[in-house]
Amino acid sequence: MSNRAPLPPEIARRRTFAIISHPDAGKTTLTEKFLLFGGAIQMAGQVRAKGDARRTRSDFMKLEQERGISVSASAMSFDFRQYRFNLVDTPGHSDFSEDTYRTLTAVDAAIMVIDGAKGVESQTRKLFEVCRLRDLPILTFCNKMDRESRDVFEIIDEIQENLAIDVTPASWPIGVGREFVGAYDLLHDRLEIMDRADRNKVAESIKISGVDDPKLAEHIPANLLQKFHDELEMARELLPAFDRAAFLNGSMTPIWFGSAINSFGVKELMDGIGEYGPEPQPQTAAERQIDASETPVTGFVFKVQANMDPKHRDRVAFVRLASGHFERGMKLHHVRTKKPMTVASPVLFLAADRELAEEAWAGDIIGIPNHGQLRIGDALTEGENLRFTGIPSFAPELLQTVRAMDPMKAKHLEKALTQFAEEGAAKVFKPMIGSGYIVGVVGALQFDVLASRIEQEYSLPVRFEGSNFTSARWISGDKAEVEKLVNVNKGHIAHDSDGDLVFLTRLQWDIDRVVRDYPGVKLTATKEMM
Ligand code: GDP
Repeated sequence: MSNRAPLPPEIARRRTFAIISHPDAGKTTLTEKFLLFGGAIQMAGQVRAKGDARRTRSDFMKLEQERGISVSASAMSFDFRQYRFNLVDTPGHSDFSEDTYRTLTAVDAAIMVIDGAKGVESQTRKLFEVCRLRDLPILTFCNKMDRESRDVFEIIDEIQENLAIDVTPASWPIGVGREFVGAYDLLHDRLEIMDRADRNKVAESIKISGVDDPKLAEHIPANLLQKFHDELEMARELLPAFDRAAFLNGSMTPIWFGSAINSFGVKELMDGIGEYGPEPQPQTAAERQIDASETPVTGFVFKVQANMDPKHRDRVAFVRLASGHFERGMKLHHVRTKKPMTVASPVLFLAADRELAEEAWAGDIIGIPNHGQLRIGDALTEGENLRFTGIPSFAPELLQTVRAMDPMKAKHLEKALTQFAEEGAAKVFKPMIGSGYIVGVVGALQFDVLASRIEQEYSLPVRFEGSNFTSARWISGDKAEVEKLVNVNKGHIAHDSDGDLVFLTRLQWDIDRVVRDYPGVKLTATKEMM
């Protein structure tokens, strides 16, 4: 990160990040406050959970339903001070989701939100591990400090122990629960006082010359002040100081203490992202690294979403720009098909509106409406044949057969399934023998999500039922041998949504047998997305 040439100012001011958390920690509330302080919405209202919708819809959609603002997008942009923030949504449901993982390939940093009373929860840990695979810098927001929370040292300890990352306090809370008065901003020596009366009001910020400033006593009750001094002394001894390099390489996380619903600590966190970054980072392709400062435009599709507008069966491919300055109407090279593609109506997801993008810079996320040409993992360039790597493809671990309740609607079902396969929401297999489709997912909840989406988006009630298979392997290799394998094992063969051959089985023994009997055939658990 250190030897790079400085980025053009428009790129250097960009911050592209996601929020990771366990359900209920406060991600939606925090997002809403970001938008409020980013000037994208006027007043925040309480976003309430609503049963099922909550689990199947993304948090952005939840926001949209509750607030009537147009955010049904996977990314939102807003300005804060001199920075342009691109916040990329991670789906809200609690099951393992491929979507979430792919989302994290499009960002340069993540905010980890934890509930001060609950600490590190299961979903947070899983998502954190994905961030770690990419050494993503993490900023931590410990939320709900207005309620009874755990001891601060205990929370910090838990993060350090559980996630094996150094934690450095960026702020220090004063009091907790009903006694919570605010926090001391250790990075800027400011005292932030929470206003309980007005949840949308920004905390009063008092410049302090240091933790020994007598001014503190004017604002903090004596008992809390003493405790604050004691704790801080202990923190200085026990916890590492902020080290930007360690933050940027993902080995240290600064933690802020706040209360999203009270708008408290949110601006400080936003300042943290702005000041400490990171700026748009180099992206890795099989051929080479692409630096954000490079002039030619390059980018990759990390998500495809269909039916964003139920009236139109259009798709939007979300592209993370890796380099360059993109302008509307540009003709880009679609690397997979080697065809030119004129990007006439790209969408930039400015939080207040879904707008046509006139221009975008490295680090930005643009949406490209299309009819299915763009797939997850696709690269767009100004001519170079790049293959971006790092977009994971997951081996389906659970296989079920899906049927339309109304057998006359089989064609509709096929259409719906094709769409979900293209979105990367599921793997879909058409067996050579027999009727119906087999759907492969990674987490069991994804079946419920799919069933409810097929019903909602296609008015097609469906039923998932157990299949005879538990594993899927993609078949490649020597043509003659593949043909023989297929002919002899028709009951095990299916085609995926791209028409590629797949071997389905319930026994590892079957797989071993194929490997032994067909040395020219390769079976793989995942298929490259590109
Ligand atoms: P998500 O599931 O992570 O998106 O969480 P939400 O933002 O929907 O918040 C879950 C619940 O916690 C909601 O009832 C919020 O009103 C509540 N909540 C969020 N932030 C705070 C906070 O700072 N303090 C308190 N007491 N409650 C909060």
